[in-house]
Amino acid sequence: MSDSQATKASGARGKGAVSRLLAFAGPRKALTYLGCTLSAVSMLVSFGPYVCIWLVARDLIAVAPDWGAATGIAAYGWWAFGLAAASILIYFAGLMCTHLAAFRCASNMRKRTTDHLMHASLGYFDTHASGALRRVVDGCAAETEGLLAHKLPDTAGSIAMIVGMLVLFFVFDWRLGLACLAAVVISILCLIKMMGGRGMDFMTRYMESLVKMNKTGTEYVRGIPVVKVFQQTVYSFRAFHDAIEEFTRLAQDYAVKWCQTPQSLSLTIINGVAIFLVPAAILVAPGEGDFARFLANFAFYAIFSAVIPTAMTRVMFMSEAFQSAADAVSRVEEVLAAPVISAPAAPRTPAGNAICFENVSFTYEGADAPALDHVSFEVPAGATVALVGPSGGGKTTAASLVPRFWDVDAGRVTLGGVDVREMDPHDLMDRVAFVFQANRPFRQTILENVRAARPEATREEALAALEAAQCADILEKLPQGADTLVGTGGTHLSGGEVQRLMIARAILKDAPVVVLDEATAFADPENEVRIQAAFKRLARGRDGSPRTVLMIAHRLSTVRNADKIVVLDAGRVVEQGTHDELLASGGLYARMWADYEKSVSWRITSA
Ligand code: ADP
Ligand code: MG
Repeated sequence: MSDSQATKASGARGKGAVSRLLAFAGPRKALTYLGCTLSAVSMLVSFGPYVCIWLVARDLIAVAPDWGAATGIAAYGWWAFGLAAASILIYFAGLMCTHLAAFRCASNMRKRTTDHLMHASLGYFDTHASGALRRVVDGCAAETEGLLAHKLPDTAGSIAMIVGMLVLFFVFDWRLGLACLAAVVISILCLIKMMGGRGMDFMTRYMESLVKMNKTGTEYVRGIPVVKVFQQTVYSFRAFHDAIEEFTRLAQDYAVKWCQTPQSLSLTIINGVAIFLVPAAILVAPGEGDFARFLANFAFYAIFSAVIPTAMTRVMFMSEAFQSAADAVSRVEEVLAAPVISAPAAPRTPAGNAICFENVSFTYEGADAPALDHVSFEVPAGATVALVGPSGGGKTTAASLVPRFWDVDAGRVTLGGVDVREMDPHDLMDRVAFVFQANRPFRQTILENVRAARPEATREEALAALEAAQCADILEKLPQGADTLVGTGGTHLSGGEVQRLMIARAILKDAPVVVLDEATAFADPENEVRIQAAFKRLARGRDGSPRTVLMIAHRLSTVRNADKIVVLDAGRVVEQGTHDELLASGGLYARMWADYEKSVSWRITSA
């Protein structure tokens, strides 16, 4: 979908944005309606004091010049005071209602998007940047909060004010009421004419350019390491730079031509009419010998020209707020439509822990060739099977199918004889511990990171897991030991150290099945020795019984002792057997081994 189509589609989905938004508030959405009604009532009540002033003037003029004869004037004062106070109280009661609904709406939005993402298939996170998802989970909720809590009741109040004031004018003097109505209508028509048609096209271009700028910006930030490594001013920067320029130009146009002009124009019309009407009021009213009416007209015009433009501005800006809320709710709905890992209605329990790939094929979305093509192999319960092969052969993909990071296109992956898709996803996750290349520590202490696998584990158990994963040297050098904060913004750990931490997490989980991916790829020799020792611990359960292990390792030394080696090349199993069998057959593995031995002897001689 092109950007332009996307923007138009989001415009179409903008219909009923507020009601779709309010659906997130559940039963509390009634509070939003109540809050808006109270806000409108509060505006109408706020006219009360002005009416009281008019009544005072009327009574005084009726008895003039015998001022003392006017009775009950003080009561008007009390009424004015009471109505002003009531208006304020009602206004705040309304705000309280809309806030209660808005907070519930935003928190439900955050909860539902986070919950949904918890169950979304991993493939979704591959195609959607985490930054963009975070903005949806948090930013969209925050945006809608402001709309529901403040903008919506303010708009209701402003509309009530405009309508109420026009009604009052008609009550006092229909001719002037008519004139004011004309002023409001003319300015609204001007706005619609300017903002509709060409104005709308402009808004579409403006939104498109905003989307483009954000997109190229994300690409640029992602590409910064590449830019630095290759010392070049790459294309992505130029594209980002151009997008910023274009957006700035449109934003200026927006500020000058499309945003300020129609609004200031319509306000000028309102003010112009109001100012023109003041002398008209002066001329008309005294001629009829009703000084009080004249005074009231005069006072009301003053209020009209001061208050109506403000109310009109609020209503005008509301369309912008609606547009961004519509956008936000559409983005939230998109996240909620992300594919999830389905749970079977009647889950089956596996018998044993053998893993079996039966004729498995899998193609990534949008890829030309399958990543796995009719792959079959078995990891018997308690055995260690190693996946090896050239980069891009499909090792990581195969390993990810076991914990259902993706679901197979054809064939099946079984655990203990049961298709993993027929198991309860929680049960599956309980049975499999995985250490993947992409694992990163959370922004938590080391101990909390390890306990993520089993939150109910005691401190001692977590420390024992760290010890078993050869992490003693990491804890020793850190100021607060296992209570040191790691992850983004925390103490930096090297790749090898992070892997040992992840192994500690897997050891604490003590699951019967272990899946390891490329765990030693980036480790230095010292780290590698420790990681190997940690692996050995992980491959045995706490009770000493062997785990079922599916492992991927770049260093062939690691896989040598595996019970079986499966060689994957271009998504196919090209050979499988023990180390000795594969060497004897003289295939791809034998060639890889020869290369490996050469590199090791080179390392030894050059050291
Ligand atoms: P290996 O782990 O053996 O290096 P992978 O399983 O990572 O191989 O990749 C197998 C094939 O699938 C490769 O051609 C790779 O480019 C492709 N691939 C891997 N991950 C993705 C992805 N998220 N989207 C599209 N293609 C992918
Ligand atoms: Mg890989």
